Amino acid sequence: MALIVQKYGGSSVADADRIKAVRDRIKQTVCAGNQVVVVVSAMGKTTDGLVALAESVSANHDQTLNEIAAKEREMDLLLVTGEQVTIALLSMALQAAGQPAIAMNGSQVRVVTEPNHTRARILYVEPDRIKAELALGKVVVIAGFQGVTLDPATGLPSSEITTLGRGGSDTSAVAIAAAIEADICEIYTDVPGILTTDPRIVPKAQMLTEITCDEMLELASLGAKVLHPRSVEIARNFGVRMCVRSSWLDDAGTVITSPRIGTGNLKSLEVNRFVETVSIDYDQVKIALLQIPDHPGIASQLFKSLADRGINVDLIIQAVQETEGVNDIAFTIPQNQLQLAEVVTRSLEIGASLVTVDSNVAKISIIGVGMIGRPGVAAQMFTSLAEAGINIQMISTSEIKISCVIAATDGENAIAAIQKAFDVKVRSHQACEINSENISDISPVRGVALDRNRARIAVQQVPDRPGMAAKILEQLVEHNISLDMIVQSQSDRDVNEIAFTVAIADLAKAETALKQYAKVLGYGEVSCDGDISKVSIVGANMIHQSGIAARMFSALADANINIEMIATSEIKVSCVVRDHQAEQALKVIHQEFNLSGDRAIEVPSALKK
Ligand code: ADP
Ligand code: ASP
Ligand code: MG
Repeated sequence: MALIVQKYGGSSVADADRIKAVRDRIKQTVCAGNQVVVVVSAMGKTTDGLVALAESVSANHDQTLNEIAAKEREMDLLLVTGEQVTIALLSMALQAAGQPAIAMNGSQVRVVTEPNHTRARILYVEPDRIKAELALGKVVVIAGFQGVTLDPATGLPSSEITTLGRGGSDTSAVAIAAAIEADICEIYTDVPGILTTDPRIVPKAQMLTEITCDEMLELASLGAKVLHPRSVEIARNFGVRMCVRSSWLDDAGTVITSPRIGTGNLKSLEVNRFVETVSIDYDQVKIALLQIPDHPGIASQLFKSLADRGINVDLIIQAVQETEGVNDIAFTIPQNQLQLAEVVTRSLEIGASLVTVDSNVAKISIIGVGMIGRPGVAAQMFTSLAEAGINIQMISTSEIKISCVIAATDGENAIAAIQKAFDVKVRSHQACEINSENISDISPVRGVALDRNRARIAVQQVPDRPGMAAKILEQLVEHNISLDMIVQSQSDRDVNEIAFTVAIADLAKAETALKQYAKVLGYGEVSCDGDISKVSIVGANMIHQSGIAARMFSALADANINIEMIATSEIKVSCVVRDHQAEQALKVIHQEFNLSGDRAIEVPSALKK
């Protein structure tokens, strides 16, 4: 007998027929001798409908931060009703079919969260009531996406209702699975599993039978909405076995592999320590090309030439420049490839005004899980470096790692500062390895993701001195705004430009916050661009092959798509492109890495529209 958590998303419970189909699958699972806890989403597009209703009645004026907070509380009260409808109906359907069942909302189970409305993180889930009902032979049907806060006076669950953020019922399911120590958490949706990309854009995307949690975390946080990234974070931290399957099919789906076996603390599920280790790499040289023309094909030409000579490029950063029509590109390579790389770079005729080489650099990284969703972590890293008087030359962020390029002579001080700030050990990162006999058979690019909900902000004329990146980030942290793709221009002057992307929904808030502090902090214009998208490739095997980024850039150049920002980490490359070219960008990249199969994937819920 196994204890199984099954989560059914909105499309899987969209109408009465679908609810009955779900009922049948649950009954079968029980009949096979298992105990079943079910977590459900709101039916179909109910949540979207409720959000639209809220917008239609609330005044559309510039709100103060207090007004935003008050509205967020009521928004949570409104949105949780969606899931409540589904639990009641599904439980009734099970009972009518002779299967004892009980429906419970987040408050009845006691899914306890932090007090942040619309984006609460789970502190803990009480397992007792769920287990008591299971012991009575019932299927327990729980509303996903919702919780309650703690009463600060008593320290007990209060009646104040929160939601986890859009798409959050995946996270509820995995948190519940961790709390009751389930044998597996199955996520049922409208696609057969995790695919190489979104089949709504590339119908011949292929199924992956397994994916590492690091790859899945990156894919999900880079826009593949098939899973809420926080659910993968919990699975990784608590060693929850997890798979993604279709509720229309009996196929096995995709297994998400995790190296962990339950090291987290069940009393602080989503607020565990997120920085696990710090590492430093002195084997780095930085090459920067300043003021190169901003048109398609430049990055591709540069990185293809480097790849052709077998040069392993590590970090790549391309920043926008204040001066229209030019860009800076900087990258790092291992020391022993410097001579070759320098010859290749200098011999290219791509119109750079200056090529600089700096071999006194090191890359310091903090490694953990879920750092992008917590803007305070990067800010704390930058602040601790600034307090130690260390200037940051390049920044690269990913869901599992934040790296800064600094002067090598600052290395020891940087390590000490970061160890103090995060109380962590110096260690090399334990990556989730791909479980395959023959690693060379695995494609270096496993998935391509598109995020159309991002906007770019560029802060211009930032004085080039320690602490500026930290100060800018702190303004955003204060308003709970997450950012990624933080890139700094490599200027030869004493001012830099810092650019990054934020969720479109946070753009106005971020702009106001940053403009307020321009004078105090001494930076110039804050320019915003909501018309961009981010396209990314992810693969744990990418580090074993050179030239992967170059192929991505070439595919975009061949399609005449200009790359406006680039940021890389070991297992991903992200590019910012114009939004109207986003889908085409995704398609040409998917094609470049031969990721399509020969059969179109059916998305049943899309067919119905
Ligand atoms: P649910 O309602 O079950 O939670 P979602 O709509 O949140 O489902 O997520 C499933 C959708 O995710 C699919 O219909 C698909 O369009 C989209 N998707 C995006 N990227 C991927 C990917 N790499 N693999 C599978 N599905 C993806
Ligand atoms: N119903 C919520 C949403 O649409 C939560 C979820 O489906 O995961 O965002
Ligand atoms: Mg979902």
